[in-house]
Amino acid sequence: MKRFFLFAALAVLFCSCNNTVSFRVTRSFDCDVLVVGGGPAGIGAAVCAARHGAKTILAERNGYLGGTATAGLVAPFMSSTTPDGKTMLIRGFYEELVNRMEAEGGAIHPLKAEIGAFTAYRDKGHYGLTTFDYESLKRTSEAFCKEAGVELMYHLLFVKAETRRGRIRAAYFATKAGIWKISARNFIDCTGDGDVAASAGVPFVYGDGEGDVQAVSTFFTLRGVNWDAMDAHDAECRRRGDFEGRFYMKEILAAREAGEFPSWRQKIALFRNLDGTATVNMAQLDGVNGLDPKEVTDAEVSERDQIPYVVRFLRKYVKGCENCELLQTAADLGVRETRRIEGEYTVTAEDAKNSVKYPDPIFCCANHMDIHRKGYVEYVARNTNEPYYIPYRALLAKGVGNLLVAGRCAAAERPVMAAIRVIPPCFAMGQAAGTAAALSVKENVDPRQLDAGLLVSTLKEDGVYLPE
Ligand SMILES: Cc1cc2nc3c(=O)[nH]c(=O)nc-3n(C[C@H](O)[C@H](O)[C@H](O)COP(=O)(O)OP(=O)(O)OC[C@H]3O[C@@H](n4cnc5c(N)ncnc54)[C@H](O)[C@@H]3O)c2cc1C
Repeated sequence: MKRFFLFAALAVLFCSCNNTVSFRVTRSFDCDVLVVGGGPAGIGAAVCAARHGAKTILAERNGYLGGTATAGLVAPFMSSTTPDGKTMLIRGFYEELVNRMEAEGGAIHPLKAEIGAFTAYRDKGHYGLTTFDYESLKRTSEAFCKEAGVELMYHLLFVKAETRRGRIRAAYFATKAGIWKISARNFIDCTGDGDVAASAGVPFVYGDGEGDVQAVSTFFTLRGVNWDAMDAHDAECRRRGDFEGRFYMKEILAAREAGEFPSWRQKIALFRNLDGTATVNMAQLDGVNGLDPKEVTDAEVSERDQIPYVVRFLRKYVKGCENCELLQTAADLGVRETRRIEGEYTVTAEDAKNSVKYPDPIFCCANHMDIHRKGYVEYVARNTNEPYYIPYRALLAKGVGNLLVAGRCAAAERPVMAAIRVIPPCFAMGQAAGTAAALSVKENVDPRQLDAGLLVSTLKEDGVYLPE
């Protein structure tokens, strides 16, 4: 007995010296495909994997789906069409979801959205936006999961991947009920931050590779906006060709100098929601590491402090906002950029600028490449208006045979990710990753060995638009 206590004491001492703790696994699960993260990419991945016959678990740390689009109050869904707004490029599961939401009054199909109405106060010609309702997105995503047979597991924070011989065996989650373990044949990292990939040893780039990342923002909503007055001001400024006036740029400068405007945003950014409320993207900070909980906490506190200043500014200067009131602030900080994993192929800026074609395309899009740099937004010009493509290999995590990555952390150079990190492309990446994970279970191969031709033809059958 004495020996046992001596051993136990030594073990505790050893563990604490190495900053290591071990916990007992309190529950274990097994499935074909484990999707970690229930944002746009994770929803697409889980539903499409389950539809193709895989026993699928979707693990999410929040108590609902949607990721940044719900917890971060980000809206609207960015462009999913050609630059002229006339042809829908991102179709497949994304369009199915929008159609279902539209049927219950929870969205406007992008081909029906006109600049100057619900998509107003945009200056860079973002045609093809989708105005949507946050609650409708949560509910509709859950309905799709239930119908496809996805097992939803909320309140699970991924903490560790167990790897052996270049494959992930299991993922471990911190829960209120202890540590849970989920084993799977294939894993799909949809955490936005590449948490699973990083834990499994996949190489990645953080931000610009030299420590800089795009700004973080806390979205909030307002009630009491007079949209007729806002539209009238916008129309009048457009008539006069007064770009600065449309966005109250001079007033922002003056207010900042007077200590009344807290962030470096140069323009107002208000988006009209279906219920008449406004979503606002004007509280912002630079240089925050979205992977560091303490930095995220400080940014959340600081941006929530910015918001009353922004509301006072809007009430004082912006026509139609005289009586606006703060409704709610986002539960999650909006983090634009952390890790981009290294894939079997990394999509380059030149590829996207020149619409390079690949043998394994999974979707195409035409989104602007806009990088939120310190103090301004940089728009990276493309050489053509043709859509650009994303290849399947950009979802295959380098060095780990059974791991796919979809969404904000997939393998693309920074300017490309600045474009495809928006919500519709993330749904499209999710659809491709989920379909590939399920097909490779059926074919009894690892995702990287999957016949790309089979994947592409299956995606096309499922409504994905891939013009030759
Ligand atoms: C400030 C800002 C403004 C934006 N504006 C727009 C816009 O107007 N229109 C647009 O279309 N896009 C916009 N975007 C981009 C878009 O919202 C995101 O890039 C997109 O939602 C990414 O999708 P995702 O599925 O990859 O990740 P996310 O939406 O971030 O989802 C990741 C999910 O994984 C979960 N998760 C993360 N880590 C773990 C873990 N360790 N364990 C368990 N679960 C985990 C999260 O809770 C979340 O639900 C904006 C983003 C930001 C930050």
